[in-house]
Amino acid sequence: MLLDCSHIAAGPMNQTMEFLCKSVEEAGLWHPHPTDRLLSAMEAVSTTWMSQALQGIQALALHAFGVAGADSLREVLAKAKTEDVAVKCRALEKKMAGLEPGSLSLDDYLSVIDCWLFRYLPPALAVQKAKRTAIQQYLVGLARHDTSPTTTEAAMTVVETLPATVGMGTDHYRLSAFDHARIHVAEATAARHIGNLTQATRSAMHDIVIRAEQRRLTSGTTTYDPVPLQQHLSDAFGELNRDWRRIAVTETSLNATDGYLSRLKPGEQVKWLAHPGACRYCESQNGKRFTVVAPDHPRKDPFTQVWVGKSVENIGRSISPRKRLEDGSLANRTAAEMLVPAITAHPSCRCLYVALVVTGGKVVHG
Ligand SMILES: [Zn+2]
Ligand SMILES: [Zn+2]
Repeated sequence: MLLDCSHIAAGPMNQTMEFLCKSVEEAGLWHPHPTDRLLSAMEAVSTTWMSQALQGIQALALHAFGVAGADSLREVLAKAKTEDVAVKCRALEKKMAGLEPGSLSLDDYLSVIDCWLFRYLPPALAVQKAKRTAIQQYLVGLARHDTSPTTTEAAMTVVETLPATVGMGTDHYRLSAFDHARIHVAEATAARHIGNLTQATRSAMHDIVIRAEQRRLTSGTTTYDPVPLQQHLSDAFGELNRDWRRIAVTETSLNATDGYLSRLKPGEQVKWLAHPGACRYCESQNGKRFTVVAPDHPRKDPFTQVWVGKSVENIGRSISPRKRLEDGSLANRTAAEMLVPAITAHPSCRCLYVALVVTGGKVVHG
């Protein structure tokens, strides 16, 4: 496919090129991890709870907007009750009982959306769940050293029994102060993702209702037109699900990679293992060896060495080798602008480090 990009300004063009380069592996986003059953199970655990919450919200919306099913509004609203918003949702329930789905006022719909979010993504519980998952994502990297399950079921059992609190993890895996600090970063990142996704869900649903209201104003009817509503819900929740899956896969990789590296001693070696379907960049790194150094080593060489937290070096760097200048011409990026070799190389990168073990002077796979 050829795209004519000659009229796009430099800023958006560079963003687009970066996005396209980093999206090459998106096609396999919903496939299991291609090379590691433990990570595959961890990705599934990280994905499922949020996908279920999104499905629940979408199902409530389908009923209440009058798109599908015969649930009474009373039932729909009863499902939205939580302790936090019980009073508000009860008041809505009373006001709307007996009304035809799709016929509420715009303001009532906007309020009902908040009830649904509180039911399926109550802020404190959702953040706690996300933080626990982040701890397990780090610990699954440690578990990779100890076990290599031969079936999906066995891998799922390992992941589901991983400690979900730092205290339990400390007992079992003898976590260091550095592990604690790194896990704390993982937890904070997870909490931020949850906040962002909840906000994105709320915003997408408000957009859908406002557009439905605009159509109702000029349609001569008192209810929402179900056909575009269904399409808008399906599009919006499809995108939210994909966004969450990308976060689940990427955070699993980032946290498990650091967990894995944290158990290697300075001087040990790892090999970069790309996978079938990896992008050109990851493929170009396949087989390269790196020597482990301590994270606080004063002179780290990103091209020959690896350390816990190395991927942070790539914040602000580009995977795309060229950029557009303000005068419209294309230029090669400088070395300082380009990625340094670090897993996770980009969102949803599923490359792995594999430890190399020296036996009798010969390097073999760990
Ligand atoms: Zn890649
Ligand atoms: Zn990769």
